[in-house]
Amino acid sequence: MSTRAVCVRCGGLRSSFEAICPSCGHRPDGEGLLIAWLLSEHNLDETGIERVQLRIRDGEAIRPSARMLDKARRALGTHFSTDAGLSGVEHAGLLAVNLLLTPLVGWVLFAWWRTARPRAALQALRLTLPVTVLFTVLVLYLMSPR
Ligand SMILES: [Zn+2]
Repeated sequence: MSTRAVCVRCGGLRSSFEAICPSCGHRPDGEGLLIAWLLSEHNLDETGIERVQLRIRDGEAIRPSARMLDKARRALGTHFSTDAGLSGVEHAGLLAVNLLLTPLVGWVLFAWWRTARPRAALQALRLTLPVTVLFTVLVLYLMSPR
């Protein structure tokens, strides 16, 4: 699906709010994605798009209100690009906890992060699933009569 979106830096048009701007190379990320969404057809009609293009080309800084940002955040709630995923420390910590204590922690985090941090949740799952299998096999092995 192609939706027109205005580049917040140069006012050029892109085919998607998360795309790299063909005119200036700007690529929105993090909070910038919220603004990019607000400056797209997801949020603006034809006239709104043209008006915001003019404002940006006039050099006006686009500062959406907290309410507008919230609207974008809700619309993009499960959007992967707004979730940076697990940090290196979180990654290592989760792996250690999974291995040394119980893989249950990974499953709890997965359930907890699923909506707010979908990318982190998937990474937690990817770490936890193999450990769970390993754990189960080990337990079955230790419990089997010899
Ligand atoms: Zn641009």
